[in-house]
This record gives sequence, C-alpha cells and structure tokens, in this order.
Amino acid sequence: MKNAYEALLKSKNLSLTAVRLSLLEVVQAHPHSDANVIYTAVKQRIPTATIQAIYNNLNALTHAGIIREIKPKGHVSLYETRVNDNHHHVICRGCGKIEDTHCMGCAPCLAPADNHGFAVDEAEVVFWGKCPQCQQDKINHKEEYNDSKRR
Ligand SMILES: [Zn+2]
Ligand SMILES: [Zn+2]
Ligand SMILES: [Zn+2]
Repeated sequence: MKNAYEALLKSKNLSLTAVRLSLLEVVQAHPHSDANVIYTAVKQRIPTATIQAIYNNLNALTHAGIIREIKPKGHVSLYETRVNDNHHHVICRGCGKIEDTHCMGCAPCLAPADNHGFAVDEAEVVFWGKCPQCQQDKINHKEEYNDSKRR
C-alpha cells in the first residue's frame, strides 16, 4: 500500500510524509470519514499530528484528485479514496449513514435539458432516504405509541 501511494503522490508532485500516508490509509480503511474522525485516527499513530495538518493534507490530496471530497447538504465534508469512478451516495436523513452506489447510467448520468453549449461531464447526484435501521426504528416507535394508547 505504501509503495502504491508513494508512486501516486510522486506523480502529482506531492511528497510522501508520515501524516499524508497515515491519512490515506485511514481514509482507505474508513471511507466517508470526516476531518475529525480522520484526525483522531491519524493522531493515534502520529501523536504530533495537528488538525490543521489534516485539513491542509485533505485539501492538497483532494486538489490532486487522490481523494474525493463529498459535501452532502447539512453535513460536514466527507472523504474517500475511491475516485474517478462516477459513483454516487445514498444518505440516510435519519442517522446520516452513507453508502456507495452505482447508478444506471454513465457519466454524467443525467443530461441537462439545455447544456448551454457546455461540455458536461459530471452530475452531482445524492440519493436521500431512510436506511433500513431507521425504517425499522420508525416502525418500532409507531408500535410503542400504539401500545401506550392501548394501555
Ligand atoms: Zn438511518
Ligand atoms: Zn463513496
Ligand atoms: Zn450516475
């Protein structure tokens, strides 16, 4: 893993630092993590790591296209190492759980009715809904409510 990242970073003119490598390993192992989660995990391995260093590296790696930043409405930015495959996300409105999904089409998936002459290559698609757990919780709450009414 280290060698693959080293080559990747080198191809983007980025040096391989301990924090950078650790950050990439954390994001690879825990996709869709936010900066705080990444910081906590990196700090366990590199106690001198700072949150500012994490933000700086996340920015640099996102700009280089090595990691992808997802900004769901109402959420902080999330990061993943899965880039350039045009995958989308399903996000739970209830608990914020997020999963990868492919859609039926190829990039940009959705065709604008009028592209105004733009060469469109991407559509940002987020599927919102309720995860299985939250759907189940809702049913349970309903039953509890009915139970309390019956008593
Ligand atoms: Zn949920
Ligand atoms: Zn993803
Ligand atoms: Zn799509």
